[in-house]
Amino acid sequence: MSGVSGRPGAGPSLVLIGGGHSHVEVLRRFGRHAIAGVELTVISPDRYTPYSGMLPGYVAGHYSWSDVHIDLARLARSARARFIQDGAKGLALRSRTVHCESGLAIDWDRLSINVGSTPRPEAPGAAGHAVAVKPIYRFNERWLALLERVRRAGGRLRIAVVGGGAGGVELLLAMQFRLRNECTALGQDADRLEFMLFSRGRHILPTHSPRVRLRFQRVLARRGIALYCDAAVTAVDESGLRTRDGQWHPADEVIWVTGASGPDWLRGSGLALDSLGFIQIRESLQTITDPDVFAAGDIASMVRHPREKAGVIAVRQGPPLAANLRRSLTGRPVRAWHPQRHWLALISTGDRYAVASRGSLGIGGRWLWHCKDWIDRRFMRRYRLPGDRTGSGPGT
Ligand SMILES: Cc1cc2nc3c(=O)[nH]c(=O)nc-3n(C[C@H](O)[C@H](O)[C@H](O)COP(=O)(O)OP(=O)(O)OC[C@H]3O[C@@H](n4cnc5c(N)ncnc54)[C@H](O)[C@@H]3O)c2cc1C
Repeated sequence: MSGVSGRPGAGPSLVLIGGGHSHVEVLRRFGRHAIAGVELTVISPDRYTPYSGMLPGYVAGHYSWSDVHIDLARLARSARARFIQDGAKGLALRSRTVHCESGLAIDWDRLSINVGSTPRPEAPGAAGHAVAVKPIYRFNERWLALLERVRRAGGRLRIAVVGGGAGGVELLLAMQFRLRNECTALGQDADRLEFMLFSRGRHILPTHSPRVRLRFQRVLARRGIALYCDAAVTAVDESGLRTRDGQWHPADEVIWVTGASGPDWLRGSGLALDSLGFIQIRESLQTITDPDVFAAGDIASMVRHPREKAGVIAVRQGPPLAANLRRSLTGRPVRAWHPQRHWLALISTGDRYAVASRGSLGIGGRWLWHCKDWIDRRFMRRYRLPGDRTGSGPGT
């Protein structure tokens, strides 16, 4: 096994695992104000890190693949950080080492983990026959193949999305909008495509108000999407899926957007995890196990402030994470950060329309889609560097 460690005589090393929403902000801030003598390393399997808030817009055809990605390697370079394109697969707290897929072992004095969460297709057969929305590059491969299939072959095609949260609903509506448009552009009958949504709970969008739920139930009904609630998926094979009530639903494509949990490689790390495998952290974003190890975004579970997994939280944790890493590296006391209890979610319906949800608020409009578009593009612009590629990539 090869090893990479701090240079002899150099200052402390900070290793960032994952290029999630919090770490891109850490890199941006460290790029503006470096800490003298600190050796900074970023480990990520993807050079281009996706922004999932714009994924439905990409699927719907409003954005290109590169519109929704940040060039992590260039961002790292601008922060004078080493970028290692690899995946972490193990962590040794005692020896202060991260082990990577390639066999590389990287030493650290401070560590920060922002690797997101992954939906787990846990029903029998699902791992082989359904595709999870994350990692996004793998979902994208399947999505591009599906687009091609729709373009090339006629006949009936049944697409099922499992997961009635905002991600599942948005993604399904975006897919339907795009695939129907493709059919229409080719002079085909768009009604040959059938769409189904399966939700384990009694309602879709369980963390949103009844008003928002009702709006989306109406949108789904108007667009001819079959909705199955109280319908946990218990088995999947190449021809369809079975729900808890024993009913069989034929499906040609099954997309999994639910049941996220932490990765297996953290389980043996010695870090305290919650029941879903997420790292338990304090208000300072330090893990409860080790003050030299920080975590943010979906992978982190704030012990005193449990919140649903959302990109908004990961984004908001970026600045306090950067500040506390800086304080920790320079021997100053870290500060507490308190997440908001409620935030505004803008949930799109694929056709350049969005619904604003916060508390009991639930209003919809085209202008809200334009607000979302403006907010998302502004977010992405913060991480663009002169000369970044735009408008190309493995997308459509
Ligand atoms: C379709 C969809 C739409 C969504 N829309 C919204 C929205 O509009 N608003 C909102 O608030 N939330 C939204 N979400 C939720 C949002 O995606 C997540 O909460 C958010 O991505 C979490 O950000 P993160 O920084 O924790 O991780 P991520 O954005 O998932 O980033 C994790 C990074 O870590 C890397 N990584 C993974 N494993 C390893 C490893 N072993 N070693 C090194 N690197 C690794 C990954 O490659 C990735 O680059 C949506 C989710 C979906 C599925």
